[in-house]
Amino acid sequence: MENLLNNIIKSNKKYTNFGQVASYIPELKNANAEDLGICIIDKDNNIYYAGDYKKKFTIQSVSKTIILAMALMDNDWAYVFSKVGMEPSGDPFNSIMKLETDDTKKPCNPMINAGAIVTTSLIKGATLKEKEERMLAFFRKIAKNDNIKINQAVYESEKLTGDRNRAMAYLLKNDGVINGDVEEILDLYFKQCSIEIDCVDLARIGLIFANYGIDIETGERVISENVSRMVKTFMVTCGMYDASGEFAIKVGIPAKSGVGGGIMASVPRKMGIGVYGPSLDKKGNSIAGIKVLEDLSKQLELSIF
Ligand code: GLN
Repeated sequence: MENLLNNIIKSNKKYTNFGQVASYIPELKNANAEDLGICIIDKDNNIYYAGDYKKKFTIQSVSKTIILAMALMDNDWAYVFSKVGMEPSGDPFNSIMKLETDDTKKPCNPMINAGAIVTTSLIKGATLKEKEERMLAFFRKIAKNDNIKINQAVYESEKLTGDRNRAMAYLLKNDGVINGDVEEILDLYFKQCSIEIDCVDLARIGLIFANYGIDIETGERVISENVSRMVKTFMVTCGMYDASGEFAIKVGIPAKSGVGGGIMASVPRKMGIGVYGPSLDKKGNSIAGIKVLEDLSKQLELSIF
């Protein structure tokens, strides 16, 4: 397995030259475009890795899966889905367009920015601090890593430049889709995106979803079975934004990407996968990371379809 992973990383490294690191969040420009790494943890808790799997990066939109799980555990599902839809948007992750044109005024799904701002607004806690602490505690629990923290520089960079997200959030408040203090909701959103992780953390979290919410080592249920299923389904239909259809055809594994360069993948009942490659394609997905998953899926016959 280690050989296979080393070969896949080696043969796909060239694709890192065809994309670019995200720059609209200034701090993300500091990533090394040539990095490429992978970690797999299987259902027997075997761990395999290759390449730059130890490099730290910010989780960005991969966090949307975890926040969705929290929102669904904190609230009545019908309430959650009265505020955010279940359909792919077919638009870029930061698109504002359908918030205006859709009759419902609610974001299409929780995997795009507008939808994640909604799920963030549904996280329970008496104060912003309490919400942040609950969020971090949950990330640490499912990644089984107590050292997980927020990258302060990225958080500040996002907060300073996140006016597009700010615009969406105010529109959502205006339309009654979110309630409460908009700046506080945005603060929690920027913080969740700025959580620093590596491929091992992503593989661990991916494995929890793959295992329908049960921690493989302790047997503890940390996410309900139905919520795990829902999150994985959203990963299939919306996890790679407006590239989710092509990804489903070519890779066939539930996955979620982020502009930090991470992709978390969950092969039901088999394994969690974390990939890192900060060079992105035009849609904001790791350009070499997708190729790595394509090869892996073919060689290990991982497609769920
Ligand atoms: N923090 C990023 C943003 O809000 C997350 C986007 C992403 O990873 N696609 O724009």
